[in-house]
Amino acid sequence: MPDIIQLLPDHVANQIAAGEVVQRPASVVKELLENAIDAGATLINLIVKDSGKTLVQVTDNGVGMSPTDARLSFERHATSKISKAEDLFNLHTKGFRGEALASIAAIAHVELKTRTAEAEIGTRICVEGSKVVSQEAEVAPKGTTIAVKNLFYNIPARRNFLKSNTVESRHIIDEFHRVALAHPKVSFIMEHNGSPVFNLPESNLRQRIVNIFGNKTNEKLVPVSEETEIVKVNGFVLKPEFAKKSRGEQFFFVNDRFIKSPYLHHAVASAFEGLIKEGVHPGYFLFLEVDPHSIDINIHPTKTEIKFDDEHSIYAMMRAAIKHGLGQFSIAPVLDFNKDAGFDTPYDYSRKQAVKPTIEVDRNYNPFSNSSGGTAAYSRQREKPANWEALYVGLKDESFRNNEQGDTSEDIEFESDEVSGRLFESSETETGGLTFQVQNKYIICPIRSGLMVIHQHLAHQRVLYEELLKNITVKEAISQQLLFPLELGLSKPDLEILSQVKEQLEHTGFVFESISEEKVRISGIPVGISESIVNELITRLIADVKEDIPDAGFGLNDMLAKSMARSMAISSGTPMNSEAREHLVHRLFACKEPGVSPNNNPVLITLDVNDLDKKFN
Ligand code: ADP
Ligand code: MG
Repeated sequence: MPDIIQLLPDHVANQIAAGEVVQRPASVVKELLENAIDAGATLINLIVKDSGKTLVQVTDNGVGMSPTDARLSFERHATSKISKAEDLFNLHTKGFRGEALASIAAIAHVELKTRTAEAEIGTRICVEGSKVVSQEAEVAPKGTTIAVKNLFYNIPARRNFLKSNTVESRHIIDEFHRVALAHPKVSFIMEHNGSPVFNLPESNLRQRIVNIFGNKTNEKLVPVSEETEIVKVNGFVLKPEFAKKSRGEQFFFVNDRFIKSPYLHHAVASAFEGLIKEGVHPGYFLFLEVDPHSIDINIHPTKTEIKFDDEHSIYAMMRAAIKHGLGQFSIAPVLDFNKDAGFDTPYDYSRKQAVKPTIEVDRNYNPFSNSSGGTAAYSRQREKPANWEALYVGLKDESFRNNEQGDTSEDIEFESDEVSGRLFESSETETGGLTFQVQNKYIICPIRSGLMVIHQHLAHQRVLYEELLKNITVKEAISQQLLFPLELGLSKPDLEILSQVKEQLEHTGFVFESISEEKVRISGIPVGISESIVNELITRLIADVKEDIPDAGFGLNDMLAKSMARSMAISSGTPMNSEAREHLVHRLFACKEPGVSPNNNPVLITLDVNDLDKKFN
């Protein structure tokens, strides 16, 4: 048999390597920013177009490259950062594999311009798919600019695999944050599609955090600082009351390199034990300094995981450092752990006055004659299904819970459904609209074959989800105008996300008066929600976009509809009167898929008479 093993040509080998290094535009951003840092830059400018799909460009004022180095930089395993194996255990640079530029150039159009301080004239090189297409001398400022265009142009499958612009931008901003946080002494500028996104001057760590995440962050930060022989810990944690349901600001840096470490995360979480309730996550910006000999960064191609020689001590030390920090700022438990989780609705009514729930039913209602203060909102259009959320305003209040039988809906009129509920029309049900509620959670309806148990929260999610999705895609916006616009303070990155989904939200009925520096003013909200949940709804929505729910393979619209439905749906633990129950059941059965929630959980189960019969045998 002839010999069959061949060495792969370089450009093929590079493409394969690229698969490891370059997963998405954000990977390019990371590699280019890190190279600029390694080059000793004090000013770094990142320009992105179309979420990096069209262009990622990084300009730095670092050491630059000689013409020979410039050419060599695109070769695989070409690096100026290590020269022998031992160097791997004494790393002081971000890069060391010499793979990034070769990988990027294998799958994109790359243009490099560079000049060293000594050289009078610079070098310009263009590479496409690993092929150098031109190299010439050119006037250039000291430092380096690398422009990466048309990423994955020669691998359509990879290009198609890229997510929506929102998701890819999110990843880019994440990488940008990581590098910018690790290097507050370096100035950074970021621009996306011609608009400035960040302008971060040289500063200290606290200022850098505030410049990235907004002024409000300042008062949330608790300093942490501790030093032992094996590790130095520095940085900040967020005060416990700012712990979030979503994993928000969580950053570990080891020797100024961002890393992911579930183990260290656990150490932080355990320091917060007793200070935050379950299901929320502490925020932190923690910098560890260890002897480079005592870690191995080489275990992961994108270098975000490292191995510590002495993990246990670092864990213990980290935990102690944070406890100490929190203790010094005498942060005592702030939460009421006896709160009934069942009443943990997305609407926080606990601070509301005991007011009778009302829905405006008068078509000629004049909002300006309303004297009830700033919360006055009215529906412009009443041709919509009943305002669920408003139905339950005040229900958490004792005076309502005591009034068990009390008909809280005296003032509520239901309009006839625009949709006809199949359930009660079908021959299945001759019980009319007889329904019961169990544990303020399930709705039971007798049906001809037995009975049906409906999960009220999931059912409402399904109903809202289908409506919202229709509104978002068919643009059927119906707004409740707010008499006094709502103002929400959001961090800059969150505002960036919000601007990206603004249009879709407008289709659901939101009216944004302005989205500007750390603030969003909302002058209209979708019909059927109250002002009190807007903050939580927007916060959750942003968290959901961040958490990449679109990765589940569905579109952004779908994700937005799901997220909003989740925030808006009536929660378990909320009593519903008979009309409200029937109305929900009608709307559920007018849905395309009444049986499953937007997240594919069952919404209802049926119990056959046969099933029941068996139980009695
Ligand atoms: P690594 O960073 O692992 O060494 P790269 O492929 O990212 O590998 O870069 C290859 C080499 O190109 C680097 O070692 C460095 O010498 C040079 N280089 C890359 N980017 C820059 C830059 N912005 N300024 C100066 N030199 C650079
Ligand atoms: Mg590099």
